[in-house]
Amino acid sequence: MSYDFDLLVIGAGSGGVRASRMAAAKGVRVAVVENRYLGGTCVNVGCVPKKLFVYASEYAEKFEEARGFGVQGQLQGFDWSTLRDNKSTEISRLNGIYNNLLENSGVTILHGSASFKDAHTVLVDGREYRAERILIATGGWPFKPDVPGAEHAITSNEAFFLEQFPRRVIVVGGGYIAVEFAGIFNGLGAETTLMYRGEQILRGFDEGIRQFAAQQIAAKGVNILTHSDIERIEKQPDGSLIATLKSGDTLAADAIMYATGRRPMTDGLKLEAAGVKTRENGTVIADDFFQTSTPSVYALGDVIGTPALTPVALAQAMKLVAQLYSDDRSSMDYDNIPTAVFCQPNIATVGLTEEQALERYQDDVTVFESNFKPMKHTLSGLPERTLMKLIVQTSSDVVVGAHMVGPDAGEIIQGLAVAIKAGATKAVFDSTIGIHPTAAEEFVTMR
Ligand code: FAD
Ligand code: NDP
Repeated sequence: MSYDFDLLVIGAGSGGVRASRMAAAKGVRVAVVENRYLGGTCVNVGCVPKKLFVYASEYAEKFEEARGFGVQGQLQGFDWSTLRDNKSTEISRLNGIYNNLLENSGVTILHGSASFKDAHTVLVDGREYRAERILIATGGWPFKPDVPGAEHAITSNEAFFLEQFPRRVIVVGGGYIAVEFAGIFNGLGAETTLMYRGEQILRGFDEGIRQFAAQQIAAKGVNILTHSDIERIEKQPDGSLIATLKSGDTLAADAIMYATGRRPMTDGLKLEAAGVKTRENGTVIADDFFQTSTPSVYALGDVIGTPALTPVALAQAMKLVAQLYSDDRSSMDYDNIPTAVFCQPNIATVGLTEEQALERYQDDVTVFESNFKPMKHTLSGLPERTLMKLIVQTSSDVVVGAHMVGPDAGEIIQGLAVAIKAGATKAVFDSTIGIHPTAAEEFVTMR
């Protein structure tokens, strides 16, 4: 049986690009199919442009902070088109880098939409390619609830390219994307409502962290509406939108953004032609070795329903290549994955929440907490505070979780994730000398 390629990857996003390059480096004949943009969600409509917008959203507050330090100056205004277009120029540069990375690794790039013909054959815009193995790395796509008028609402995909910056925004949802974009819109000067259907935003995070983060976000000016949901959206003749809530209340906005989760992107793939099975929620079923129900077909990244984070897709890709083309028979370790929410202030977390620790170890848990005003704000006069938590299994003294709401929390928690992954005890934290004066030193001085 002759094949055009040893490995054909569908999707040139975080997972697909990494798998393609790593496999090609091992001498494997690789092709990657991409129908939209090299670099996938993260580079084009995810992590990267989002973080650039987060940086932009933090400048206005810096003008306020500066006054307490005697630095004078006034914010003259904000030009959305400069931010949007500079961001797009940077993303185009990154697209070019991804193209070069793939080409220089010897990967064949096929531009077009892939669909299965059978377990070894993929059609790319009508042309057939046969491969010994096929990897599905097609990621996810924003989900909008079926609400009358939802077609007038945007998702994060469109938020990156808006023609005009909205004066009033409603962001629906209480997860990563909703909370981050509420911070972006608010920081850039929009009147921002964060509308969440439940009791408290950021379900799944440590309870204390959720409460504290919600207070801080509200103190920055975001109007958080809990127990709220939109029943219908109507467009007005002037282009503005009216949201009628399930409570009967109405709210006017210039943009409504749904950040109500993402669904696996398997549209048009014709998985059934290859016998690849999915779960009820559409995620592709893959085992510890990323093998689907069809032995020649593999899948990884957001499309298989594991934590939807770029570093997870990258790690899976490297693990898959090691499993297929080296002797690695170990599986991925999903414990202690650190993450950050890039709102203001940042939230970052690794390991067990207090609630998870109590469930796992019952009363064998000690919680250390530090809640303080960051030194900068003693002069800036801003009301922002920082919260840090360490969760320890009392009997073993092992630190099983670290959580933070505060400036640069993502930068700080990354280092703690190494310590926690290495099994550090609270005694090790205590014997570590702090870096003074920093916020991070609190993690080694909590008693
Ligand atoms: P993707 O990166 O989505 O790549 C899939 C690729 O497949 C896409 O390029 C798509 O066009 C292509 N494709 C799909 N179907 C086909 C087909 N039939 N034929 C050809 N090509 C196809 N993660 C973080 O770790 N940190 C963050 O700060 C962060 N911020 C985010 C912010 C936003 C707004 C969003 C939406 C996501 C964010 N994420 C973040 C999540 C991160 O982007 C994803 O977890 C990651 O991109 C998943 O990688 P992937 O390889 O599984 O899929
Ligand atoms: P999430 O799953 O994190 O959050 C979805 C939110 O929408 C939840 O608050 C959920 O409520 C709510 N929701 C779901 N369905 C409905 C509905 N029908 N009506 C009203 N509300 C609804 O998804 P996101 O879209 O925020 O992000 C997707 C993933 O992308 C994240 O989970 C994360 O893995 C990744 N990501 C990572 C980032 C980072 O690392 N910084 C940044 C952005 C995204 P409920 O809680 O009640 O279910």
